Amino acid sequence: MQPPHDRPWSLTARWIFPGDAPPVERGVLTIQGERIVALERIPSPPTPLPPGRGELKQAAARQPDFDLGDTAVIPGLVNAHTHLDLSNLAGKLPPSPDFIKWLRGIGAHRRQETAEQTAAAIETGIRQSLAHGVTLLGDIAVGGRSWETLARFPLRAVVFFEMLGLTVDRAALALDTADHWLKDHPATTTLRAGLSPHAPYSVRASIFEEAAQRNRQSGIPVCTHLGESCAEFVLPDGPFAEFLREVGVYDPQGLVPNLETIVSLYRKGKGTSLVHANYLDAGTDFGNAAVIYCPRTHAAFGHWPHLFRHWYAGGVTVAVGTDSLASNPDLSILGELRFLHERYPDLWGDMLLRMATINGARALGWEHETGSLAPGKSADFVCLPWSMPTHADPFLALLESKAVPTNVYFRGLQTLLDRSETKPLEIS
Ligand SMILES: [Zn+2]
Repeated sequence: MQPPHDRPWSLTARWIFPGDAPPVERGVLTIQGERIVALERIPSPPTPLPPGRGELKQAAARQPDFDLGDTAVIPGLVNAHTHLDLSNLAGKLPPSPDFIKWLRGIGAHRRQETAEQTAAAIETGIRQSLAHGVTLLGDIAVGGRSWETLARFPLRAVVFFEMLGLTVDRAALALDTADHWLKDHPATTTLRAGLSPHAPYSVRASIFEEAAQRNRQSGIPVCTHLGESCAEFVLPDGPFAEFLREVGVYDPQGLVPNLETIVSLYRKGKGTSLVHANYLDAGTDFGNAAVIYCPRTHAAFGHWPHLFRHWYAGGVTVAVGTDSLASNPDLSILGELRFLHERYPDLWGDMLLRMATINGARALGWEHETGSLAPGKSADFVCLPWSMPTHADPFLALLESKAVPTNVYFRGLQTLLDRSETKPLEIS
């Protein structure tokens, strides 16, 4: 399909999933330039929509420009948490119950990798993300290094500058460096700069406060790994203290008094997110802060069952992430959803797709621009072959299929030409 650039155009498909509303059988998606104009029902649908499927306007009498046939169209997917700069570690550092040992492996890898190798890793991760239909990424990057590479590709991202430093001196340096980086990286059409105080055991309390303040004052997105391991609860003692002492960067005076302190700093923010939350209390008041759950990484480390469905039911913005290729087999968000569906077959498909689309966009503070197929939003969507002839629940067909994207559109332009190639377009 070769959409026109100079006039509105439309497509229809077997099912269109808006992401924040029920799916529409034989819906018509109309696009003008880079924006979605409408999602409507085709005149005289072949089968009546069941009750409760929403009252969509009848599409205009004219036929859609393109009929994709047995295809599912879903919003561009959101990977709310990854580390593109670890993409060279694919398959090389298997997750183990000894989390500190695994962290040491990450540190050793970072020290021996050259800047060129890291740049190549970032590009590998971006290409793979695009191939899997991801059009918005939350990427934690050492030194904010993924920014320049991301700017060359057709997708959006929040690049979170990673901040590390528990001692007074290291914390001051981290904050100063981050502030300079923020100043040098104003938002573009596709990129926004954020801050990521790394974790409660590696970052001074003042950094969490300063980052939260920048979020409140300037809307800078902020995210932190929190409650990833139960060893965080025995600070200032335990394995983290031992590890940081050994490498000469421990200062118990710098620690936050408890994990709740960080939640309370983030809950009134906007575009604030807590990554993992594997061991946080069920009654935690997250407020506006999102929880980012990384299902396959969580399972690979053998953590306790995650409370994502409990929090989702309570109105928390729960989004999904892959984490990095150091702990996950790929950067596919659909892979995360299919894993969850297999593990918890009773999970509602609508909930899963929201976690991977509109909730991810909300977690990253980008929900007004993308995350659902709604009028006025960016035309970011993914086409998947519809392999099941009939099915009572369209979500099941999406989740039980192994189909990979055949096409990805970003800002109304095709970005994926075939399954083996993710040819980047120059975005002006
Ligand atoms: Zn992470």
